[in-house]
Amino acid sequence: MSSDLPRVGIGVDVHPVEAGRTCWLAGLEWPGADGCAGHSDGDVVAHALTDAVLSAAGLGDIGGLLGTDDPRWAGARGADVLVHVREVLEAAGWRVGNAAVQLVGTTPKIGPRRAEAEQVLSGALGAPVSVTATTTDGLGLTGRGEGRAAVATALVVRAGSVDSPQ
Ligand code: MG
Repeated sequence: MSSDLPRVGIGVDVHPVEAGRTCWLAGLEWPGADGCAGHSDGDVVAHALTDAVLSAAGLGDIGGLLGTDDPRWAGARGADVLVHVREVLEAAGWRVGNAAVQLVGTTPKIGPRRAEAEQVLSGALGAPVSVTATTTDGLGLTGRGEGRAAVATALVVRAGSVDSPQ
């Protein structure tokens, strides 16, 4: 078993939609869409990515990274959380190779702003991030618009390895 092999990780997040709250999703503000309730900004896409990266590096999960009620992270932007996780990752000797995240929900429509979201998230993690979206055909909390979910995967490589971007 080599510790130098790339490692994959997985992350999932779900938050309830809150009428009237500003919508932050995939690192972007979405005017006209209701946001998600949560201690931070409720960005399920960024949070699922955070968990995927931490999972890949064996560094625990977002609850352990931020604390569930730490006032420093109240209202924190998802992209800022990703910058923080990148710093934690690099301090542990890892870099992100790439990551992918899929939103599960009915709103907002990701497609028209996919490139913008990918640019923000990729910039935060310092690696390519793919953003996709799907619905659940009206089923469940995401289908009824009561909440949004996201699932993510990430690949991390040892900093300085031949697979590393630097
Ligand atoms: Mg969350």
